[in-house]
Amino acid sequence: MEPLKDHTIEFTGLKDGLHEFRFVLEQPFFDASAEEEWQGGQVTMDVKLEKSTSLLVVDMSAKGTVKVHCDRCDAPLDQPVEGDQRQIFSLTGGDPTDDDELVSLDDKAHNINLTHYFYECLRLALPIRHVHAPGQCDPEVEKVLSKLVVDQEPGPDPRWEVLKDLQNKERSS
Ligand SMILES: [Zn+2]
Repeated sequence: MEPLKDHTIEFTGLKDGLHEFRFVLEQPFFDASAEEEWQGGQVTMDVKLEKSTSLLVVDMSAKGTVKVHCDRCDAPLDQPVEGDQRQIFSLTGGDPTDDDELVSLDDKAHNINLTHYFYECLRLALPIRHVHAPGQCDPEVEKVLSKLVVDQEPGPDPRWEVLKDLQNKERSS
């Protein structure tokens, strides 16, 4: 996703060592993400940045909720989300690598933007399937769904019947 300027960290002015940042992802972030599923939410990203002469090690920790739609009843649902991700940036320039974990920065770079990494972190942290807790789905939809389940109840498995027949024969013989 496109970088949001709030998520830029100027690292050239930082001393070597550990630095902590906190970002809060809210509506502008979710609107800017291309994920149609994400209706909004509020997620705190705690970022620990360890700077050395050759590397920036960025540990991100996400915690909050993302508004999605329930996969079962389609009503809005606040999906709790919690996850960690590490991203390492090399400051020594050199060839860009294909390694996802390690990103080579241009030796003239003086800042990093974390929007993309926040996005990745959330995508990984969100469960693929999101449904309301039992009994919390839209009652109207619940009614329709329960009817559907009854309608689609499979008849007795023919293999079962054969097996039962066999057992009965064995018993009676
Ligand atoms: Zn639901």
